[in-house]
Amino acid sequence: MSVLEVRGLSVDYGTLRAVHDVDLTLERGEVLGLAGESGSGKSTLAYAMTRLLPPPGVIRSGTVRYKGFDLLSLAPEQLRTLRWNDIAIVFQGAMNALNPVASVATQLLDVFRAHRPSMPRAARLARCRELLHLVGISPDRLDSYPHQLSGGMRQRVMIAMALALEPEIVIMDEPTTALDVVMQRQILEQMMELRAALGFSVVFITHDISLLVEFSDRIAIMYSGRVVEEAPAQSLYRAARHPYATGLLGSFPALRGPRRPLRGIPGSPPDLRHVPSGCPFHPRCASAMDVCTARTPVLAPVDQHRSVACWLEHENRGAT
Ligand code: SF4
Ligand code: MG
Repeated sequence: MSVLEVRGLSVDYGTLRAVHDVDLTLERGEVLGLAGESGSGKSTLAYAMTRLLPPPGVIRSGTVRYKGFDLLSLAPEQLRTLRWNDIAIVFQGAMNALNPVASVATQLLDVFRAHRPSMPRAARLARCRELLHLVGISPDRLDSYPHQLSGGMRQRVMIAMALALEPEIVIMDEPTTALDVVMQRQILEQMMELRAALGFSVVFITHDISLLVEFSDRIAIMYSGRVVEEAPAQSLYRAARHPYATGLLGSFPALRGPRRPLRGIPGSPPDLRHVPSGCPFHPRCASAMDVCTARTPVLAPVDQHRSVACWLEHENRGAT
């Protein structure tokens, strides 16, 4: 069962199109990974599909179904209720987003004060202790100030805040990038345990492909504002079909088994001011054909679980 259904979503920054006609579904309880080089539109897509897009980003078209209504046509008041209650976010550098002059307790209690005004103080406090315990921090730390906590602990506090109101969807945008590798993995493992226990869905963005493959159920690969391949994480890792996805997944060391050569992708990431004609990846693609410079391939299913936007696949399927 899906929790979010995105159809035809396009987002502009002024005259630049950052997200182009994206269709995507977030299933209940799943971790959907978004991958792509910086500027590929992955953060913009995640923020737009949850109506958290900051200006100057503007949603130009599309629908996002959530619990039977279209998020994109909600009034500001309805949106405010939705944030934190239904959709929460753990963003990049979140560990530095805590207020340095307020204790952990004060900051957690603030979430309840704002969103659960009728909840008695004792119940709020009990819930704060429970939340800290949930993310692996001793409730004794409630009276600590951010500077008394390690980076990993501060990040866990931010996760506790995101989970405070039991949201249905958690967006994690480079949530652990500032931490060392061991700590990143620990926090993500814990987040996935919480997800299994509490049943929320996650949109997970990271430039670290090995973390993405390990922790996502499904991955959508973005290039120049479009989803170019979408598949279960393990099948994508074993065999990507879009030449860009193949390059991206081939450009990091294998998690297990024999090491793959690091191939990388020649050329530069997409520049939204000068998007190439046809398939935007064609200047970097070793398999480019005549049709690729003339016409843009659309994302289409190639089997039951995988969709690809590439003329190679369309040709294989007999379409033109
Ligand atoms: Fe390469 Fe053409 Fe496929 Fe684009 S459509 S990825 S240029 S083969
Ligand atoms: Mg980003």
